Amino acid sequence: MDESAYYPESERLAELLARIGASLDDKVHNPPCDPYLNRAQWEHLAHEPVPLAPAPVDALVDELVSLLIPNGGRVSDPGFWAFVTTAPTTAPLVAATAAALGAPVRYGYQAVNAIEERSLEWLGEIFGLPAHMKGLYTSGGSSANIVAMGAARQHAFEARGLDPALDGVNGTPCAFYVSPETHHTIQRAAAVLGFGRSSVREIPADDNLHIRTDLLADAIDADIAAGVLPIAVIANAGATNTGTIDPLRGVATVAHERGVWFHIDGAYGLPGYLDERVRPKYDGLELADSIIIDPHKWLSAPAGIGVVFVRDRTILQRAFTQGPADYLEGSFADDGRIGVSLDSPGIPYGDFGLELTAPSRGIQVWAILREQGVSGLTERIRRDNDFATYVARTANDDPRLESLTTPDLSVACIRYVGDGTHSNDELNELNHRIHRRLVRETEFLPSTTVVKGAYTIRPCFISPRATWPLIEAFLPTVVRIGDEEAAGSTP
Ligand SMILES: *Cc1c(COP(=O)(O)O)cnc(C)c1O
Repeated sequence: MDESAYYPESERLAELLARIGASLDDKVHNPPCDPYLNRAQWEHLAHEPVPLAPAPVDALVDELVSLLIPNGGRVSDPGFWAFVTTAPTTAPLVAATAAALGAPVRYGYQAVNAIEERSLEWLGEIFGLPAHMKGLYTSGGSSANIVAMGAARQHAFEARGLDPALDGVNGTPCAFYVSPETHHTIQRAAAVLGFGRSSVREIPADDNLHIRTDLLADAIDADIAAGVLPIAVIANAGATNTGTIDPLRGVATVAHERGVWFHIDGAYGLPGYLDERVRPKYDGLELADSIIIDPHKWLSAPAGIGVVFVRDRTILQRAFTQGPADYLEGSFADDGRIGVSLDSPGIPYGDFGLELTAPSRGIQVWAILREQGVSGLTERIRRDNDFATYVARTANDDPRLESLTTPDLSVACIRYVGDGTHSNDELNELNHRIHRRLVRETEFLPSTTVVKGAYTIRPCFISPRATWPLIEAFLPTVVRIGDEEAAGSTP
């Protein structure tokens, strides 16, 4: 049998990656204006039958370069401002590629395992977390919230002398407390952990979309009186919808006075802490029992990197240990020797969360911090916050536009109001049409949301490739399309 079929071309990485790199550079420098230009070709590729015979790797690289990279969507475009999504910058991408073969998994005490821990410490330090909070990389914010809520579950049940990781929750009535702005991955976490979505209580927010701490206290007290076990209170440090930051100290006080776990969801907004103009809004951060951040959002890491910090990582081990495994026996020396392959498992991240085999994510975050430094990151976060403030202010200064929020961070929520004669329903419909035309006809790709009943166009500025000239061209484009739509004409 021909051995090359099993080890195809594996020694030509330098040459093949150079071709991929050139194609990626080209995509970033010349964003394709119409991702559906070559739709027939890539759809054809996506419908091919399973290959029966091997093919040279060059043919695969040809397809990557000519069809898949250019038609892989517009997330890396400078005007992609939808959701809380962006494409990675160069340093973490290069580090991810290096680690994919150089250190494919995070376990075992080796250079990249050690850097995994250091990068977590760096993140904690720059975002003002106390040194006792230890981190764990996850696949993103969804799983980070599940891990954090798993820690909260462990905490609440252990206080009653029970071990939910061992014995389950046995139908114990339990509750989580969130604001209406809270990301729905909290509901999913409650579902996954055996409590059900209906255990999540939505506490009303005030006019600034901040959770009402007085009503929060009332809700917890009522539950306790009714024999319900509170599991966690969740505060937003940068809600996805609007970027609002809850009063963290106030929420922490209400939670801790009742012995309840205090969680902060900073998946999007924790990096805002670097901007000293906003930093006072993070007052109380240090009181968190758990906190999450997604480096694959505002830090522009490659997709698939979240972090959960907890005040005591041993609680994660009690909540998530996979237990002993026979097949691991003998893999690692028990004499504490390190530095030789398979002599030390390194930090047992696989016992702290949902994943055993996991990529080396820390090196990608480490690469971002090495390349940009705290000052570079801070400058970019400030700039992105300035973008949102500029858009909100400019919208309020233009009688044909309106800003629905005063941005805490880098999300703006604006809408076209035209000559002021339209009803709210008409404006909702009109702005929907404007948004469809923006994403189909222009370089601007914001998403939308609803703020207090108003359908708004919602740019979230986390793209490292956005520029001031682009930001300045955005609202004039909204107004032009809005005027055309309001007049009932299309060009
Ligand atoms: C994006 C987001 C999540 C979910 O994170 P994923 O990485 O998309 O799984 C959770 N909470 C907040 C506040 C978010 O913005």
